[in-house]
Amino acid sequence: MIKYFQKRFVMSRKGAKDLTGGIFASVLMGITTGIPVGMLYMLMQQLMNPDNRFGALDWRVYVVSAVVMGFAIFWAYYLQYNNTYVPVYNESAERRISLAERLRKLPLSFFGRKNMSDVTNIILQDATDLEITFSHAVPQLFGAFIILVLAAIGLSFISWQMMLSMFWVAPAILLLIIISKKFQNRIFAKIMNVKLAMNEKIQEGMEQIQEIKAYSCEQRYIDELSESIHAYEKVQLQDELKVGILNQLIAAVIKLGLLTLIIVGSIRVAQGTETITDFILFLVLTPVIYGPILALTEHFSTLFHLDARLNRMKRINNEPLQHGIENPKYNGLSICFDKVDFTYNEGNAAVLHDVSFTANEGEVTALVGPSGGGKSTTAKLAARFWDVNKGKITLGGVDISTVDPETLLKNFSIVFQDVVLFNASVMENIRIGRKDATDEEVMHIARLAQCDEFVNKLPEGYQTLIGENGSTLSGGERQRISIARALLKDAPIILLDEATASLDAENETKIQLAISELVRGKTVIVIAHRMRTIINVDHIVVLKGGRVEEQGAPAELFDQNGHYTRMVRTQTKI
Ligand code: ADP
Repeated sequence: MIKYFQKRFVMSRKGAKDLTGGIFASVLMGITTGIPVGMLYMLMQQLMNPDNRFGALDWRVYVVSAVVMGFAIFWAYYLQYNNTYVPVYNESAERRISLAERLRKLPLSFFGRKNMSDVTNIILQDATDLEITFSHAVPQLFGAFIILVLAAIGLSFISWQMMLSMFWVAPAILLLIIISKKFQNRIFAKIMNVKLAMNEKIQEGMEQIQEIKAYSCEQRYIDELSESIHAYEKVQLQDELKVGILNQLIAAVIKLGLLTLIIVGSIRVAQGTETITDFILFLVLTPVIYGPILALTEHFSTLFHLDARLNRMKRINNEPLQHGIENPKYNGLSICFDKVDFTYNEGNAAVLHDVSFTANEGEVTALVGPSGGGKSTTAKLAARFWDVNKGKITLGGVDISTVDPETLLKNFSIVFQDVVLFNASVMENIRIGRKDATDEEVMHIARLAQCDEFVNKLPEGYQTLIGENGSTLSGGERQRISIARALLKDAPIILLDEATASLDAENETKIQLAISELVRGKTVIVIAHRMRTIINVDHIVVLKGGRVEEQGAPAELFDQNGHYTRMVRTQTKI
């Protein structure tokens, strides 16, 4: 049972155990609510029928039973609270943490395929909705089912005819639910898509507010936003309407159940085949039996979406991870691309074709070529951001696809243009390079990376918060912080994307100084945009259309009078 729950509901072992406890508590609550009715039945039998099956009336039995019942009801509520509400929130936190942990380990190809708002929705919204479903609906659903079965069996001993006249509603309601669930699954996918579109529109507005204002696109943006909000409102209403219709149908079926019980019971009492007390017992029990079903109708919407939400989580959990050995024996630190083909998405055209070159240990290898030629892709593949489709990449002779990604990345410092900074102090942003670095070490490195001057001008120096993704800093300053991080990490291999040409001369000089500090004595693969910065590199690889067009030492290549020479000539003319 616990194993089944774990798998079915994507839960930890403890979560599944708590759910079992919650179901038990739910059944216990049903039973404790039913027992007073049984006592009432016994009392009526004893008062109205001298030769009843319970014997002579003894008030002490009722007093003791009332006290025991009081405790049992209290215990059932306590159990339900402790097994359902409290652990559900712990389980939800667990679920979010394990999803986040899984995401951390997933290869980047996953993020290329998946919409990030959708992933955020799974971790935040789906997990929250599951909290409600598992605290207010799932244990109650199982509990109601068990109580219905127990009550049906128990009452059939008193009168199976009246039992059937009352319980036929259960399979009828089940049928209604099954039919309704089919429609709900369809609408859930629609709701999620429309909601995603709306969230993206809101996000877009916040991120691009400057452009929207600068190009006077406010009206167009507002129109598009209200359109997506209305679309969401419409599908939500459709969903609510379907659940509403189902709830009304269930309420009608229950009333019909009461009616059939009254008809069958009255006829049987009139015929003398049933006693009036038995009939009253059935009538009094109707709210106890139908109550849990009616209570569940409130949560049908979340219950119906339960599977869809769980499936979204399961899909993340089932995504294949990149695995590999954690103690590779590298023979040196040269990186070798051997006839590499690569495509971002299966079925799409390859982005790299038959790429072969070696970035020797301790040397600087520059990747050059037109935009879209495959330079960034090549550099990222060297750190196993993705796995290649054909050929192989080796580090010190070891095929990197056999090495655990985290182990491999320990050897790399990566400085790309799309620098990611956190909304923390400058100090903490640099310290990401090496978590145990002291403040002095961070400041020393920051000086080498040419950060010192601009950091000292900030209101609180190294302790200044730099806003979301370093929004309070210039592009050049952000790049220098990321170089400082890489310097602090002091990894033997550097992957470097040169800053864009949009930097001013002063920033550019400072970044060049910082870079020269960073690459000293390291194995470096640099994506170069300006030809003059690569005159002194050891090896140049020209990538065009995903193929190696030419490669060699700068002087050697220049003599070939090929693509590289043309690039140098064009840039020096400018
Ligand atoms: P470069 O760095 O030389 O400008 P890239 O390696 O960035 O070239 O891109 C090579 C090709 O791969 C381009 O056609 C680009 O559109 C495509 N590409 C880059 N990143 C992705 C991605 N994440 N998903 C799909 N295609 C991509």
